[in-house]
Formats: sequence, C-alpha cells, structure tokens
Amino acid sequence: MAKALPRQTKIIATLGPASESPETLDALLQAGVDVVRLNMAHADEAWVRTVTARVREAGDKAGRPVAVMMDVKGPEIRTGARATPLPLAVGQAVDVSGPDAAPAEGVELIPTNYPPIVGALGAGGLVLVDNGLIQLRVTARRKDRLRCAVEQPGTLGSRRHINLPGVKVELPALTDKDRRDVALGCSVGVDLFALSFVREAADVAALRALLQEHGSRAGIVAKIEDQSAVDQLGSIITESDGLMVARGDLGIEIPYETLPLVQRRAVALCQAARKPVIVATHMLESMISNPVPTRAEVSDIANAVAESTDALMLSGETTTGKHPVKCVEVMSRIAAAVERDRPPAMTPEPAADTPKAKLLRAAATLAGDLGNAGIVVFTRNGDLPRVLASMRAAGCPIHAFAEEAVIARRMRLLWGVEPHVLAFREGAEATIEAALSRLRDRGLCLPGELMVIVTNVILGEGIIDSIQLRSVPPLPAAG
Ligand code: PEP
Repeated sequence: MAKALPRQTKIIATLGPASESPETLDALLQAGVDVVRLNMAHADEAWVRTVTARVREAGDKAGRPVAVMMDVKGPEIRTGARATPLPLAVGQAVDVSGPDAAPAEGVELIPTNYPPIVGALGAGGLVLVDNGLIQLRVTARRKDRLRCAVEQPGTLGSRRHINLPGVKVELPALTDKDRRDVALGCSVGVDLFALSFVREAADVAALRALLQEHGSRAGIVAKIEDQSAVDQLGSIITESDGLMVARGDLGIEIPYETLPLVQRRAVALCQAARKPVIVATHMLESMISNPVPTRAEVSDIANAVAESTDALMLSGETTTGKHPVKCVEVMSRIAAAVERDRPPAMTPEPAADTPKAKLLRAAATLAGDLGNAGIVVFTRNGDLPRVLASMRAAGCPIHAFAEEAVIARRMRLLWGVEPHVLAFREGAEATIEAALSRLRDRGLCLPGELMVIVTNVILGEGIIDSIQLRSVPPLPAAG
C-alpha cells in the first residue's frame, strides 16, 4: 500500500469570534492549521494576549506548536467620521479633500485623512470607497479638493477605506498604532509579522529595524496590495522573509483580470528567491455561510496549489464564518488531492547555484529516488529548510530540527516542512539519533525506514556539510 503523505501546502487561519474559543482552536489545529493570523485591523491588546496564550496552549496540547502571525494594518487612507450614513446617487457631484476643507455650497464633502489626495489625482482619476463599492470619478481638481461625479452609487458610512488605483500613496510604512501593535506582538512572542500595504523594500526595512529594537527574531511577510508593490516585487521579496498576495485589496488597486497573472508571477519569483509565499483572500468566501465550496473556489485553491504556493490563507471564512473548521478540512482535502497528482519534477536549478544549494538539491533528489523518503535537516536559523522547501520535492517530507522554538514555529509557513525543536547534543551522531528516535516515537517514520540526513551545523567535530542515508533505529526493547 502507498505511504500516506503529509500535506505539503500550508494553511493559515485568521482568528476571530468564530474561531477563538479553546474548543474551536483545538479543532482547527486537529484539522491541520499551520499558522494562525491575528488581524490587527480588528484586535485590541487584551484579545491578542488572550488568544496568543490559547494558541500556544492548543499547540502544546496537540504536540504540534503552530506559528502566530500578527497582521499589522499599515498606512491607510480613510474617509472622515460620520454621525449618519450618506446616500450617494449616480451622477451626483461630491468633493473629496484632505481633513481640513470646508464644504462648498450644495455639494457634499467627503474629507479624508490624506491631505496629498488633491495632488495625487487629476481629472479622470478614480477614487474607490469601501472596497470599491462606491466609485467616484474626478471631474476637476480644485485648490483644496477634487470635484468628483458618483459613478457607482452607495451609502457612505463612517471612516471607510479608500483605494486610489495606480497611485503611489505617500504614507509612512508604519503608523503609531502599528508601532504599538508591533511592540505588543514582540512582547507576546509572535513568530511572524505581516505588514499591510508594503509599497517598496524600504517599508519592510522599517519594520525590520523596529523588530531589531525589540530584540525579536520574528519573520516579516510583505503584503502585496497595490500597483507600487507589484512594480517593486523583486526588491520587496529580497528584503522580506516572505510574501502575501493579498488579493482583496490588490483586486481593487489593479485591474482584476490581471490578478491571476500577478499571483502566478509572485509565486514564481518567491520560489526562485527561496522565500515563502502566501495566496490570500476569498479562497472559500461562499463557505462563510454555506457548508460546501463553489466549484470555482475548488478550482481557485487547486490552481494555487498547482502553482505551488507555500500557503493558502483563510480570512472571513474563519473569523466570522459559520464553518471555520470545515473550511480548513475542505482546503486541506483539495490541496492533498492536487499534491497527489503532482509531477515529481523539482523546481529548475538556477544557473549559478551555490554549492550548498546543490548539496540540498542532491539530498532532495536522493529522497525522491528512494520513493518519497523523509529528509532530516538541522538548522540554527531556518535557512537550509527554506532553501530545501523552495525546491518543491513532491512527496518528500522535510523534518527540520531547530534549537529555538521561534525558529521552529516560523518554519511552519514553509512548503513541506515539519518543524521540530531539539536541543542539539555534543556530537553529530547523538543529535542525529535523537532526531530519528523523535520522529519514530511520534509515528512520523517507521523503524528501518530510510531517511536522508542533511547537516551543516556544528555538531561536535566542526562544520561538515554532509548528506547521509540512515535507517530509522528500531524501537527500544520493552522493560
Ligand atoms: C487582502 O486585502 O487580501 C488582505 C489579506 O488584507 P486584509 O485582510 O488585511 O484586508
């Protein structure tokens, strides 16, 4: 009988009222969630402290610590506060301004928190409000306002989000609230930070500097949400520890028909750069209310898995949806089915690969040749497992052993990597034996099974890069 293979594509669930109870968290982990996301657009300090502790407890109970990713809201243009909703009719003239303009006679004023908005657009420009539900077309630029005509009608509520497609928004990478959230994230020990509305590599560098101030070793995932980020994709990937294709905002900021092309390009660039990538938003949107996915959702997930994204993300489906656990089960089932059908070919070898990457490729090739053997890799900072993961060795689980829990949890995001925390022993032999025994005792491999071992850490005798073929030791005799 064929060996049951663990799912290699990872699943991220965003926590919210539908999923934050200890019972549902247990069920989500049981269903196979790898990373939980805390969306700071809807979170306060007490909640973050409570749910982070619960996630840690659930991970310990399941014997499978998951990563916590704090999603920092980033800069955002918003309309001003309103006491009452404002209905907007097709063709109606409205003014859009910074925070301080006074209304002109007979024309409704929509103030925003972004004074440069007046200089950012000219006649013909587009202002999208509330995720594009309301569309305003600029008819004229005045000194302190944009005169617009309502193209897509709707009712304007208080403090609604604004998108300006194609405009590079000049806001600082991190707001004061973001800085407070990052401090909180560091104090509760989150493993990954996702940064919203990254427009260039410098935005990631700003968060990196802040994490260093806090002494945090958390990874940074850059959220790609607008045209500036798409234009700067290469340098953003270089600066970050991972990427999220945040299709919600991205699909508003760029023409939506280009979204699948940007997704495919982002996934391919991340693989080539050996950084993890997440495909996010609306993956099982209909399951917020329905117990089964639409056929289009099944295909969307299958496509992302076939493109071999590292991770798939659930948002509303698990925050407020009716079927949070079922969504994870459905996603897992689709991913596993596509993976089973995956051709064994690894990602192409870059022309000028490093000797170490060649060694890892040899290990992955050997594991594949042996018939989906597991690969055991020791790491201090997660780099070797990250490079191995990027090679997409179908069917070969990568067991990555790290000494630090935060490094192990960060690796939950990586395609096909099962992380473990292990105190490295004095000698290489003792460390390898401890790792293999751990895997055997947890039922992750069988006595006598062949495993490919990669070591590069100082294991007693000095640094020796090596690939070894080992068989899993027998169970110790009872008594
Ligand atoms: C998105 O826009 O797709 C996204 C993931 O961001 P958020 O959920 O923070 O709006």
